[in-house]
Amino acid sequence: MTTIEQMLAGAEADPYSHHWDQLIEQVCHVGIGEDDRTRLIDSLPAIASRYPAGDRDNVLLLAGQIAADVDEESWPRFAEELKALHSLAGDWLAAPADPGLFLYRLQAMAALEGDELWGAELHRIADEEMEIECPTCGTVLFVVFGGAGRFATHEDYATRPVVEKSPLQPATDTELEGAGRRLYHASLQAGQTSIATALRYLFGRAECTQCNTVFRVSDQVFRH
Ligand SMILES: [Zn+2]
Repeated sequence: MTTIEQMLAGAEADPYSHHWDQLIEQVCHVGIGEDDRTRLIDSLPAIASRYPAGDRDNVLLLAGQIAADVDEESWPRFAEELKALHSLAGDWLAAPADPGLFLYRLQAMAALEGDELWGAELHRIADEEMEIECPTCGTVLFVVFGGAGRFATHEDYATRPVVEKSPLQPATDTELEGAGRRLYHASLQAGQTSIATALRYLFGRAECTQCNTVFRVSDQVFRH
């Protein structure tokens, strides 16, 4: 069996080594112990700093996945390393990427800032549709913001020709605050206008088609 230490040794010389895939698989799907987590967080800043900004996807996406699972209590132990990784992520975020990849970079950036929610769940806007619950009546709603339109509905809009819909209200400049504002501006700065637009809908408002409650979409997104 290949250990985390061996994978790391295999990965570090090549930003596109298949060992990175193994490490990401271990962290995301198998799970790693405390010692391995410490070893990874200690090693990743030096490795990332040797790669050009555009070649940091594997190392910093891995770092983001690890950071998303560092709880508040453990954060101070790794604060220096996570700060170093975060500063290496600045140029990386600006390096050319398609919107799908950029979204994962932005999620990793949020994780390295200690944002436990968007550091893990931001990728859910990739489908231009989210399933959330109405905060008042609990109905499961589709919030759709893409080619299919910009609306909320409790009906299966993908298979039914006519469904009851309510229009979405994207967040205005003044309504964007906190995480929404940071993520939005980071997207604009990187020239990722489609992601920036999706974020206006994520941090904007929807109306429940069952009980007419109007609520902020992002307030109904929870950590899986
Ligand atoms: Zn409702």
